[in-house]
Amino acid sequence: MPTYIVLLGPPGAGKGTQAEILAKKTDLAHVSSGDLFRENLKNQTDLGKLAQSYMHKGELVPDDVTINMIRERISRADCEAGAILDGFPRTPAQADALEIMLKGFKGEVNLVPYITAAEETLVERTSGRWTCRAHGHIYHEKFNPPKQSGICDVDGSEVYQRDDDKVETVTKRIRVYLDQTMPLVAYYRKAGKLAEIDGTQAVEQVTKELLSALKK
Ligand code: AMP
Repeated sequence: MPTYIVLLGPPGAGKGTQAEILAKKTDLAHVSSGDLFRENLKNQTDLGKLAQSYMHKGELVPDDVTINMIRERISRADCEAGAILDGFPRTPAQADALEIMLKGFKGEVNLVPYITAAEETLVERTSGRWTCRAHGHIYHEKFNPPKQSGICDVDGSEVYQRDDDKVETVTKRIRVYLDQTMPLVAYYRKAGKLAEIDGTQAVEQVTKELLSALKK
């Protein structure tokens, strides 16, 4: 049976960083809805053009568009063994759609690590975050700068600050998260799938706790 892990948490909690590490350690595909939207934006596809205005304002892209994009992504061969879902679902409607989708693959959401951090930490982390243009590798100007300024350690591409990582938009994204995504915490807790993890700890410690939650 495939394994599906849903990473929940506000922007800046460390979902992207942990998803990348976890994908390597578990051999599961890393499916990031934000990365998929950014890729479409870069390639100026119809989907990218549609998502653009929402993303720039820090709002959520409509559910139907997002759900279709994820359905297509997790149907691909590299998700046969399952996936680490980073940034999806973000609304109750998306969580319902995911459940139906996964039934189609004879699977279900197995674990929902919920990575938390205080709001000032989230703003500090996101507003100092730099992202690699080619593959979305993540850096922080203060806490985790690339070895060579402006260049990704992994693939040598340019690192840049996402438009929506500017302070004003980050604050909006956190508000959107509290309004629209927080209900999922209760939803997955009730289902007995939630594993709460303190995202203010060192990256290695968060990974350790994630892996131990996975073993259980
Ligand atoms: P992220 O990289 O996860 O912070 O996502 C960046 C932006 O992409 C969000 O602020 C939304 O505009 C959009 N986005 C990503 N995932 C979703 C989702 N599951 N539902 C709706 N919009 C999303």
